[in-house]
Amino acid sequence: MAEPALTDTDTDTDTDRRHLRRCVELAREALDAGDAPFGSVLAGADGRFLAEERNRWVTGGDRTLHPEFALARWAATNLAPDERATATVYTSGEHCVMCAAAHGWVGLGRIVYITSTAQLGEVAAALDVPPSPVRPMAIQDVVPGIVVEGPVPEFAAEVLEMQRRFWRHAPGR
Ligand code: ZN
Repeated sequence: MAEPALTDTDTDTDTDRRHLRRCVELAREALDAGDAPFGSVLAGADGRFLAEERNRWVTGGDRTLHPEFALARWAATNLAPDERATATVYTSGEHCVMCAAAHGWVGLGRIVYITSTAQLGEVAAALDVPPSPVRPMAIQDVVPGIVVEGPVPEFAAEVLEMQRRFWRHAPGR
């Protein structure tokens, strides 16, 4: 009997997993540099890698230096509107309100996140991290109608452990 052909879904899953793995690597690069462990990848409609960024808010001295925000601005500069609409943003942690708004304003497409804002909130609460100055919200509450997938359990434990390591000694806490 012949092997079943790969379906579109299988291909998407492999592509998703590859980009999500890179998000974890970028989060680790950020953590190793002293930044908050967040990393994100932008991919085109065909799954092709387009751009990546990691958090830089400690080394950059600017708490708005989130990777999702940087990718939204990269997309605005480098992609046509139809390319943005069919692109996917992969990220280690669900977009914050600022990044979700930027994503919505530039008209980007699907989001796949590894850990949710609620999961990160639990980490912060367990470590008595002072409350964020910006209200935590789900992406869909900021950008209605967007396709959002997550959390992704396969990678979540690794990301949450990096978050615990960072927030235990976070600057400004
Ligand atoms: Zn953000």
